[in-house]
Amino acid sequence: MESEYKQLKRKLLKIEAILIQQLEIKMEELKEQYDMKIIPVPVIKISWVVTAVNAKVKWWSQREKVDHRRCHTNPFGITRCEIVMAGQVYSEFGREEFMGVFLHEYAHLICIEKYGLNGHCLTFKKVCSEIGGTMNSYLAGERFASAASENFLR
Ligand SMILES: [Zn+2]
Repeated sequence: MESEYKQLKRKLLKIEAILIQQLEIKMEELKEQYDMKIIPVPVIKISWVVTAVNAKVKWWSQREKVDHRRCHTNPFGITRCEIVMAGQVYSEFGREEFMGVFLHEYAHLICIEKYGLNGHCLTFKKVCSEIGGTMNSYLAGERFASAASENFLR
C-alpha cells in the first residue's frame, strides 16, 4: 500500500500542476495584452517550504543583451526568469489571493519590459492594480486601496 507520505505528495503535485496551469493561462493573456516581446516567458515554480515570503521574481541577465536605444527594451538584459510562488499563500489564503500575488510579480516584469522600471514605483502600482495584482496597504495607499490585501505570510 502506498504510504501516507506518498499519497500526500501525489495530491500536492496534482494541486501544483493545476495552479501552474491556471497561472500560465493568465500569463498568456497578459503577454498578449501588454505585447511582451523582450523578457522571456517566466518559468513558474511553487515552493512548499514554510516561508514569510509570498513570492519572488528571479532573473538571470547578460550585459550584452542590454539595448538602451530601443523603445521596447530589456534594460536588465534578462535572458531567463522565474516566478517562485509560495504554496503556503494558496493553502492559507486560497486561490484568489494566490493569483493576486502572482499578478503582483508579473506586473514587475511588465514594468521592466515596458518602462525599464523595477521596484514599487507609481507606474508599478498602476499596472499591478490594473491587472488584478495585490499589494500591502502601505504600498497601496488611498489611491490603490482597491488592490490592497493584508493576506500576507508573516
Ligand atoms: Zn513587488
